[in-house]
Amino acid sequence: MTQEIEHKFKELLREQSSYSEAIGLMAWDMRTKAPVKGMDNRSEVIGVLSQKVHELQTSDEMRSCIDTLKGNVQDPILKRAVEEAEETYEKTAKIPTHEYREYVTLQSKAESVWAKAKAENDFESFQPYLEKLVEYNRRFAEYWGYENHRYDALLNNYEPGVTVEVLDQVFPKVRKALTELLSNIQQAPIQPDPSVLEGHFPKEKQAQFSEEILKRMGYDFEAGRLDETIHPFAIGLNRNDVRVTTKYDEQDFRTAVFGTIHEGGHALYEQNISEELSFTPLATGTSMGIHESQSLFWENFIARNEAFWENHYQLFKAYAPDSFQELPLDDFYRAINEVKPSFIRIEADELTYCLHIMVRYELEKALIGGEIEVKDLPRLWNEKMKDYLGIEPRNDAEGVLQDIHWSGGDFGYFPSYALGYMYAAQLSSRMEQDLDVEAIIRKGDFHQIKEWLTENIHQYGKMKKPLQLLMDVTGEGLNPDKIIEYLTEKYKKIYQF
Ligand code: ZN
Repeated sequence: MTQEIEHKFKELLREQSSYSEAIGLMAWDMRTKAPVKGMDNRSEVIGVLSQKVHELQTSDEMRSCIDTLKGNVQDPILKRAVEEAEETYEKTAKIPTHEYREYVTLQSKAESVWAKAKAENDFESFQPYLEKLVEYNRRFAEYWGYENHRYDALLNNYEPGVTVEVLDQVFPKVRKALTELLSNIQQAPIQPDPSVLEGHFPKEKQAQFSEEILKRMGYDFEAGRLDETIHPFAIGLNRNDVRVTTKYDEQDFRTAVFGTIHEGGHALYEQNISEELSFTPLATGTSMGIHESQSLFWENFIARNEAFWENHYQLFKAYAPDSFQELPLDDFYRAINEVKPSFIRIEADELTYCLHIMVRYELEKALIGGEIEVKDLPRLWNEKMKDYLGIEPRNDAEGVLQDIHWSGGDFGYFPSYALGYMYAAQLSSRMEQDLDVEAIIRKGDFHQIKEWLTENIHQYGKMKKPLQLLMDVTGEGLNPDKIIEYLTEKYKKIYQF
């Protein structure tokens, strides 16, 4: 009997992941190659398929499989898959169907209203939509349940195990250290000169360099591809088809170089998940934060490392024939690591980035908790920016309206970015106990690093929850000291204080 149900359950998962793969491929197509006129129709097809996935996840058949298998299976993969299916079932089933439908409609409408509001610097036109989105999220959090803070229920969607209690301990500590560091940096007598990085960088050359670096990272081009897009992303359709996209700015090579390496880090994760997890909901990264730790590890710990450029600067110069031929490596290295408070999160350097996240975290927490209202956001945003980064946005477009997340109702997502930095620092410090990372980076042969990541992190997919994974690899939970140590050591050297 159980065996029959096991078979049925696996069939349901297979069906689900097949639909998801089709949706993913269409989403990739829409963001890279699809003709403009085809968009509406394609959106509708995606909607139909998403509905199908939703139905499968919450079907009576699924419920009965879960009930029969729960506590009755030995195989660890099957056991975790049942757990995961149950969590999804519970989460979805707790929201009344009509509310979910209204919410999905609101999401797609709000996104276009937001895009217009941002372009026209008009928060008021977006405000009523954002109010409704917040209202739904407050209600969903109540349906899902939480122990201490309503916001915990939303955090759980992106970073299971991380709560307001945890973040309220960790973030202030990091903030204090970063603010002190920033003040030392700003007072340092010698400042890097980012103007040395200006030049003209032909798109084709950038594409060739991007491809070369991805290959060196160990990205498998037979199980992936590199394309151009406006907003870069990586997407894993399955472990044998993980695609990277990047953006080429002919005036600023940093967009493509660091963007490609960042997305490459995400892609390596998805390409190296154990084959045994295929066609289950476990065949993906375990959380937003751990995923981000992989991209940030490659982008910052490797590609913004001095040793990386000691090796790759010559190669890079070959792809940028008109620039840098006379520029000393040291000036180049310091310029790509310039620290400067700025308004836009996605353009922030690795030091001030976490401060941008903390601004958003504080506001989201208070908003979902019901302590503040949407109409107060522009004012509070600017106050917090002043407080945390020492600068005040001149308008809402470069302030509260800049990110797409809230227009999609994604509350609880932002902290994952800062957690990614902390995880990356912890994992990198652990890796250094096993490998001479500096020497490897200098040599430019990264296969040992890739193997270490596969063995310790990637292969497990969603088999381990984020904090469990962290504990298994590093022997400790979330520890903000490592990111503080890393940034302090690095920037003391660059800014000489
Ligand atoms: Zn990322």
